[in-house]
Amino acid sequence: MTIQHRNFINGGFVDTKAQGIIPVLNPATGAVLSEIPETSPEAVADAIAAAKTAQKGWEAKAPIERAGYLRQISAKIRQNVPALAKTIVAEQGKTMGLAEVEVNFTADYIDYMAEWARRLEGEIVTSDNPNESIFLFRQAIGVVGGILPWNFPFFLIARKLAPALLTGNTIVLKPSEETPNNAAMFMDLLAETDMPKGVVNMVYGRGAVAGAALCENPDVGLLSFTGSVETGSRIMGAAAKNITKVNLELGGKAPAIVLKDADLDLAAEAIVASRVINSGQVCNCAERVYVEASVEDELVAKLSQKMSEQKFGNPAEDFSVAYGPMINKAGLDKVAGMVDRAKAVGASVVTGGEVADLGQGNYFQPTILTGCAQDSEIMQKEVFGPVLPVNAVKDIDEAITRANDSEFGLTSSIYTRDINSAMQACRELKFGETYINRNNFEAMQGYHAGVRKSGIGGADGKHGLYEFTQTHMVYIQS
Ligand code: NAD
Repeated sequence: MTIQHRNFINGGFVDTKAQGIIPVLNPATGAVLSEIPETSPEAVADAIAAAKTAQKGWEAKAPIERAGYLRQISAKIRQNVPALAKTIVAEQGKTMGLAEVEVNFTADYIDYMAEWARRLEGEIVTSDNPNESIFLFRQAIGVVGGILPWNFPFFLIARKLAPALLTGNTIVLKPSEETPNNAAMFMDLLAETDMPKGVVNMVYGRGAVAGAALCENPDVGLLSFTGSVETGSRIMGAAAKNITKVNLELGGKAPAIVLKDADLDLAAEAIVASRVINSGQVCNCAERVYVEASVEDELVAKLSQKMSEQKFGNPAEDFSVAYGPMINKAGLDKVAGMVDRAKAVGASVVTGGEVADLGQGNYFQPTILTGCAQDSEIMQKEVFGPVLPVNAVKDIDEAITRANDSEFGLTSSIYTRDINSAMQACRELKFGETYINRNNFEAMQGYHAGVRKSGIGGADGKHGLYEFTQTHMVYIQS
């Protein structure tokens, strides 16, 4: 019998008012893995009410006590790494190795946020009045609504839950309808801890129903969203009604700049790894390359050699694949359509360029394109697949100008051995993050944030943690 997940509300798994059932598919085989309810707006309101009721008591606890509950969750995760990784592979299609990294990173991330319990700070500010003291306190916001995408479905639960809870908020999570199975396992593990009821709640369903209900509820104080620009824009629109604070982690179109003095082997290795990881479905992985013209041929040869070596297939059956299927048919069609349109406007295919027919599953060949115009769709829109357009530029100035010429501003990278070029890139690239001589992958102690349409606010580290707080200025005359 098909597993039917139930919402987790007020400390228990509940049969909820549902408007229907959504099947969850394995993208490699098409098999139905489970079903989730299309949760009604009324049931979402129940989850928010539970979170609101629990919040006062949760915030009243010392941060170190809240950290203890977080550590109970991370310990449970560490005891279940293989099962969790297997679940992620089955519903999302990433490789087993990457899924294990994701699960372990999730536990580490929760522990990292728990460490902040003894480090939360306010400020004391000088007053113009000698008889006055001025304090800046940081308080919890209240109830956080966490809306999640499917590409790192397990880790992104923690990226919202851990800082929200540590700072005294309660949370209602809505996982992607594509990947709810690992989220359900997260709740199973959480239910085995001593977490007070109502602090963490999870509702399932599509964005337009359960997600929208979360966004429109005036009792949600912060909407923390990770996903596409289009949905981010809709969420911001819905949040405007109640002036709800939003934190938006959106898409990217990361440029990789390769200068003529770069270590081209290192650059090719890092760019290809970045492009095929998770089948290219990562917000910060290299989406376009700008290479100095004098080394274009050499770099393209190295990139196409490496790209064509990338093995793909069902990651549950073959642990040696570099990448698995795209999340669904719509994702595959999007990539194929963008490559076809790029070819139609003059791009040349160096390697790949086609849908791969493995009998079942949604696969696209590892692809290198050259000769793509800067203003063409393939250079401007997020592909989210294993496709890499490479363009020649005359120098670093042109590379930086073209890199910045994008509606996205999440991550960027540059490969060079020249410190002056590296420093110029630091000053002039207008992105939330820049990686120099390495693959795009953020650290939990950093600050992952996009500019332009890539988002508002950010996650991780001290700055990400404090986004789950609001300030309270207090003036004391004595
Ligand atoms: P998506 O925007 O389609 O969906 C994300 C979530 O939003 C899902 O849970 C969905 O149900 C929900 N949703 C959809 N419509 C909604 C609405 N009207 N109101 C409320 N919720 C709604 O994104 P996706 O396809 O799941 O994820 C891929 C995107 O996420 C890519 O663009 C990728 O770059 C981005 N992403 C960004 C980061 C980052 O850190 N910046 C990280 C991972 C993924």
